[in-house]
Amino acid sequence: AKGAGKNQWRRYQSHLHDAMVARLELRSALDHAVNEGSFLLQYQPIVDLASDEAVGFEALVRWHHPARGVIAPDQFIEVAEESGLIVPMGRWVLDQALHTVAQWRRILPRTRQPYVSVNVSVRQFREAGFVEQVRASLDFAGVPPQALMLEITETLLMGDDEQIWSDLAVLRDMGVRIAIDDFGTGYSSLGYLRQRPIDVLKIDKMFIDDMVGDDQQFALVRGIVSLAQTLNLTVVAEGIEEATHREILAQLGCPLGQGYYYSAPLDATEALTWLRNPQPI
Ligand code: C2E
Ligand code: CA
Ligand code: CA
Ligand code: CA
Repeated sequence: AKGAGKNQWRRYQSHLHDAMVARLELRSALDHAVNEGSFLLQYQPIVDLASDEAVGFEALVRWHHPARGVIAPDQFIEVAEESGLIVPMGRWVLDQALHTVAQWRRILPRTRQPYVSVNVSVRQFREAGFVEQVRASLDFAGVPPQALMLEITETLLMGDDEQIWSDLAVLRDMGVRIAIDDFGTGYSSLGYLRQRPIDVLKIDKMFIDDMVGDDQQFALVRGIVSLAQTLNLTVVAEGIEEATHREILAQLGCPLGQGYYYSAPLDATEALTWLRNPQPI
């Protein structure tokens, strides 16, 4: 039995070693990617549930890996955050997203001009001068702050970091909109919603998934929508995959949604086509 334990320990150590090597490799490849600029953005429509028209697009990053092809963000965001590479990567994402929304806004009539919603990691806020960077990027792209929404996940805000909240307040005073991403998954107290600079709650996909046929989950979604109404916040329901999801949400008075039912994330040109002619599946 002693021998077996020893073997197990060795296997455990070699597994740990492999995982560490894989992580280091990923990190150095990512470092390279940041220098080479080998990322691309896709855009998923955020849709007005009453009219089925897009009001904005969420920018979602992908890594174009020379050998492995297009890699989804869950494969590298965590390592990017740990290593700090999220900072230069996030800068690129913001500039690229604003560049794209500037193009769309030049082409489209004033009444149909979309905004772009960009995911930001708390790590980016901790970097000195983030607010100034956003201001400079908006100026450079030539778009008004109203064309930009920033998404911050609820879990990352739980630290209650006053510096981040005051940066968010400055951005919001400029006209940038602030969304709480993955709302409902952070197990935080709801009190913060009242005094904080927030415009939008994005209801996590998890709630939408289980809403049909699960009374409690349905009640939760209804609760979030009415809470948002009381607090004068907008709501975006994530992960709308079926017509039933859309119908239930529209009935509850949820104003906005996104999901595969409307469209998967698209390339910038496809998104423009979609914007001109929305086509739910
Ligand atoms: P998220 O912000 O919650 O983004 C929504 C994710 O759900 C996206 O995955 C999107 O493609 C996917 N999705 C949209 N509609 C549906 C649907 O109907 N069904 C299902 N099953 N999925 C749907 P994606 O693009 O793989 O992004 C994953 C996460 O990576 C994002 O989750 C976000 O947290 C992070 N991320 C993406 N881009 C960036 C970025 O530029 N910066 C940072 N910091 N994080 C990013
Ligand atoms: Ca998001
Ligand atoms: Ca989300
Ligand atoms: Ca998520």
